[in-house]
Amino acid sequence: MDYSTNDSKSTSKKKVVAVVGGGLVGALNACYFAKRGFQVEVFESREDIRQAKIVKGRSINLALSHRGRQALKQVGMEDTIVSKGIPMHSRMIHSLNGTQSPIPYGKKGQYILSVDRANLNKELLSAAETYSTLKLNFAHKLLNWSTETGAMTFLRADGAKEEILADLIVGCDGAFSAIRKQFLRQSRFNFSQTYIPHGYLELTMPPINGEFAMKPNYLHIWPRNTFMMIALPNLDKTFTCTLFMPFDEFENVTTGDQVTEFFQKYFPDAIPLIGADALKRDYFRLPAQAMVSVKCSPYHLSDKCVLMGDAAHAVVPFYGQGMNAGFEDCLVFNEIMDQLNEDFSAVLPEYTRVRVPDDHAIADLAMYNYVEMRSHVNSKWFLFRKYVDNF
Ligand code: FAD
Repeated sequence: MDYSTNDSKSTSKKKVVAVVGGGLVGALNACYFAKRGFQVEVFESREDIRQAKIVKGRSINLALSHRGRQALKQVGMEDTIVSKGIPMHSRMIHSLNGTQSPIPYGKKGQYILSVDRANLNKELLSAAETYSTLKLNFAHKLLNWSTETGAMTFLRADGAKEEILADLIVGCDGAFSAIRKQFLRQSRFNFSQTYIPHGYLELTMPPINGEFAMKPNYLHIWPRNTFMMIALPNLDKTFTCTLFMPFDEFENVTTGDQVTEFFQKYFPDAIPLIGADALKRDYFRLPAQAMVSVKCSPYHLSDKCVLMGDAAHAVVPFYGQGMNAGFEDCLVFNEIMDQLNEDFSAVLPEYTRVRVPDDHAIADLAMYNYVEMRSHVNSKWFLFRKYVDNF
């Protein structure tokens, strides 16, 4: 299907933008383009998560900060999302002996928000759908695209292939972006990908007598030298705990009894709160997940294609800024569109010029903190700071 416009035939008709990936950044970006009046086609490989019973994602919840909120505000989504977030004013550091010490995020009244990833994605998709010029195409997996013609080939749920043309392709298809694959063939395209030796797994801390098991308005952190656990609150009064640990260590814990022993040694206060039996069971529910850092440059290919979100810059999660930076990509791109009258041939290189250094800085800072975590193990001050600074 040829959605692209021909400028020589029509100057009044808005161009067609194909957003590939309907995750957090893709759904928000689609709103930005539709708000400007573009004809927007979103192509998402998954089925519509608003109808799905189980939504797989990279984490159950995440921290939304000022950077992300500013981007949501521009498309009128800030209040909706903030109303379903739980403010976290401070980190709460859990020491081995069970002492808890709060460390504020900033001045009085400043906070970040714990938001449910699946709900955030659903809200953004629903917001996108309110634009009459926007269409969501689920179960459309991008297989390939041609840098010469711009033609994209999608695999649909029924097994059929569909070919699509658009005026601009916006790659928001995550850390393993299929759109980005074509960039790798281009001369002077820089790309690096680094897996860190740590993995992560998530555990649920249920409510106790209908109330949060720990103080809710905190991001709880158990710093433990080469590994750590964090917990963010959810609206259903559970906490999602995330254990970050080297894969080698995960491999040493293979039985329920070993899990109990490990938690007794490092996170004794969390055992009764998670529940001894649930802990032994849930620890093995899913294998530990890998974390990757991706850097590349430029973010655009001629006036035809641009990368945003994790497709452009996947970062390790130790700053809690991956999604926030991806949201900011949309905001920055939008500002450049204003400055350069929506002329893609000028906007795309300017976006690369402005955005690459900032996104690379966030990737470096996230990785720096991860390295700090492992290297300064003998200093009590570092032991304290290295985890505390991360979130
Ligand atoms: P994704 O969320 O990966 O979405 C990509 C979308 O593209 C998906 O819907 C996928 O189905 C679709 N897709 C993929 N391939 C194709 C294809 N071929 N065709 C069509 N569609 C396709 N960030 C924060 O800001 N704060 C946090 O607290 C935070 N915590 C995190 C905790 C963990 C454990 C991890 C792993 C990450 C965390 N992040 C956090 C980072 C955050 O998850 C990512 O930065 C964010 O999800 C990026 O959004 P995205 O839309 O670019 O990519």
